[in-house]
Amino acid sequence: MSSPRFPYAPAPESRAIVNLRPSYGLFIAGEFVDPVDGGQFKTESPSSQEVLAEVSSAGPGDVDRAVKAARHAYENVWGPMPGRERAKYLFRVARVIQERSRELAVLESLDNGKPIKESRDVDVPLAAAHFFYHAGWADKLAYAGYGPDPRPLGVAGQVIPWNFPLLMAAWKLAPALAAGNTCVLKPAETTPLSALLLAEILQQAELPPGVVNIVTGAGQTGAAVVNHPGIDKVAFTGSTEVGKLIQRSLAGTGKRLTLELGGKAANIVFDDAPLSQAVEGIVNGIFFNQGHVCCAGSRLLVQEPIAEGVVEALQRRLGTLRLGDPLDKNTDIGAINSPQQLAKIRELAAAGEAEGAQRWSPACALPERGYWFPPTLFTGVAPAQRIAREEIFGPVLSVLTFRTPEEALEKANNTTYGLSAGVWTEKGSRILYMASRLKAGVVWANTFNRFDPASPFGGYRESGFGREGGRQGLAAYLRGAFDA
Ligand code: NAP
Ligand code: MG
Repeated sequence: MSSPRFPYAPAPESRAIVNLRPSYGLFIAGEFVDPVDGGQFKTESPSSQEVLAEVSSAGPGDVDRAVKAARHAYENVWGPMPGRERAKYLFRVARVIQERSRELAVLESLDNGKPIKESRDVDVPLAAAHFFYHAGWADKLAYAGYGPDPRPLGVAGQVIPWNFPLLMAAWKLAPALAAGNTCVLKPAETTPLSALLLAEILQQAELPPGVVNIVTGAGQTGAAVVNHPGIDKVAFTGSTEVGKLIQRSLAGTGKRLTLELGGKAANIVFDDAPLSQAVEGIVNGIFFNQGHVCCAGSRLLVQEPIAEGVVEALQRRLGTLRLGDPLDKNTDIGAINSPQQLAKIRELAAAGEAEGAQRWSPACALPERGYWFPPTLFTGVAPAQRIAREEIFGPVLSVLTFRTPEEALEKANNTTYGLSAGVWTEKGSRILYMASRLKAGVVWANTFNRFDPASPFGGYRESGFGREGGRQGLAAYLRGAFDA
């Protein structure tokens, strides 16, 4: 029985709050400067293909300037500064992020294509929370369990992806700064704008010049940051492919490295699970942020007796998802971030069909301009198929079934990744049984995609190494912490 469907009136968030400049320089030594040996590129809105602004691309000479500014600030200002003083700046940054949260959310949705309700309710509040949390640590590092006087590493080179542009910047900057390091951050080519607005926020918070430098550009700029000899620590979030390249190029340099890479998480639903709650969790697990989530629950493992019912309930629920304008407050699914990512999703979905899985999407009109992919479900998926093994990084769910907990574990762990997993069951003992045997950095029970700055996040195997968040995340920015 289907319930009556009422049309929604448009509820667009105004973009008037965002003051886009026609062009942006690089943020080096506390100022926006023109590149010396780089160039310019345009960033567009993936939902409309409208050019939003011209952004600078940093060449090797620009990266060198940024690293020198960071070194100077480390040696003369930030390194010697007592933790309690550093904390004041971090608290200030957190508060200004909160004050300017609407502006940040609208800008993020414009540049990335994600729904405003997600940037407004998830990305921006979590970014502020990361600065608040780490501000609290800055004067308590001696009690973090890494010795009585843990020291910073120096200059951190940080490279981040396009799926959570502001939030990933916060994940990188906040712990590095709390621990007393200075930073050179490289945002993703397709989503540079929220990091540049964050640079304005850092100016507003009067962060000393050079403590954070932001060099926009493409992969080459990232490589120049990572390979610069003046960098002491590299923190990278992105694809496993580039992560491997970086690890190879850093071998023998003595630079410290943490990698947060891809995933292919299993979301496991037992026959005693609270079903409507599970269906919401499955939908959130894979369709949140268009599935552009490294820890997305992209493989649904559902126990055989309830498989048919779960798929039917999912289909009903997917039929109610609203795809369209990211700035509309009722939008559930926004735009795919780039034509390259759209091509990758299309290719893998086509491979799913070619390999014999059944493809389903609800009736869903796609806007004419921009990059879009409808929510998609594959049933009859075999573990060897590409859609069961490869990260799609899009709104595509592969459904597999299992009979026993052991079979669920075997299938869940049958992946080269190991970032996250989900378990849905009423039995507490089964949650503990599964969680201790799932080879994944994060295991959610009766929920999915929950984040907290106090909770360490990171992977096993090809999902990378090192943790971000919590006490463990600080270790990546402290000297000797790994040996402690
Ligand atoms: P990507 O190509 O690896 O890009 C990530 C970042 O690295 C971007 O800033 C990119 O610049 C830069 N980059 C590219 N080539 C580089 C090189 N040779 N040296 C240094 N930097 C380089 O990843 P993506 O395709 O944009 O992002 C999606 C991937 O990231 C997915 O696989 C996803 O699972 C993973 N991810 C993981 C996490 C996590 O926490 N584990 C979080 C988010 C995403 P450009 O923007 O110019 O390419
Ligand atoms: Mg863009």
